[in-house]
Amino acid sequence: MSNPDGSTGVSLHLVVDQQIAAVDADPDLNPVWKDFDKLKSKYFAASRGPFFHYMVIANHYNGDYSSGISRGIPAHDLVVTLGYAGDSTALELAGTIMHELGHNIGLRHGGTDDANYKPNYLSIMNYEYQFYGFTIGGVANVLDYSRVRVASFNEATTNEVAAFAPVAPAREADRARISGLRFNEVQVIGNASNNVDFNGDEDISTASYSRDFNRNGVADVFPASQNDWTALLYDGGGQIGDPALGFLQSLNREELFLVAPDEMEPCLTVDPSRAR
Ligand SMILES: [Zn+2]
Repeated sequence: MSNPDGSTGVSLHLVVDQQIAAVDADPDLNPVWKDFDKLKSKYFAASRGPFFHYMVIANHYNGDYSSGISRGIPAHDLVVTLGYAGDSTALELAGTIMHELGHNIGLRHGGTDDANYKPNYLSIMNYEYQFYGFTIGGVANVLDYSRVRVASFNEATTNEVAAFAPVAPAREADRARISGLRFNEVQVIGNASNNVDFNGDEDISTASYSRDFNRNGVADVFPASQNDWTALLYDGGGQIGDPALGFLQSLNREELFLVAPDEMEPCLTVDPSRAR
């Protein structure tokens, strides 16, 4: 992405507000957005609304074991709820923040669709990677949205030698940098350009086989995946600016909300055995 000053990329600015006071402590946001709004109205300056995403790091919501929730796709509000998972790590927390923020800026569990666990979608939005990230350029546990497009993938003809085909402008070299691939909750050896050991048996088989990556009992054909970084939506509610500052601009997106703002995107459920 190019910026007016000639630089490229985006910067994430995390502003940590005050802690929720003990008198407002809520161990279970239930119903989640009603309780969220109570906190937001008290702890978040409304004038920041058009510019900020508001995140609450909490314990539980709706009495469930979900790791977090986004208020819509896209949206301005997100909740991360790993509080009950006593042994959650900094990596899991960071991954979940990035995942929920991803929904806030327009990403779905399959990138453009809701199909989770697509083997050819190499993004933290895919549940396989929310808690782990990727190994990129030899660095482990890098949390990232997808940077490469991978050709369509047929579960019925999974082939470890043909593996992933690139979609231009993604190149083999781009995928070769990505390893730490995970399928059916197992991390496999190799990178996304080489032969890929989809079934994790530490052997590259030449014969095609059928594999149910999303555990839905159906042999799916997943379309080519997207490069998330080219698809991010930065405006949340469809406008940027603040009339008080003399600038307010609607971005005129055709679909302001792919999901109505008050609908929810409940995310990865943590094993309830981890609850404390
Ligand atoms: Zn999610």
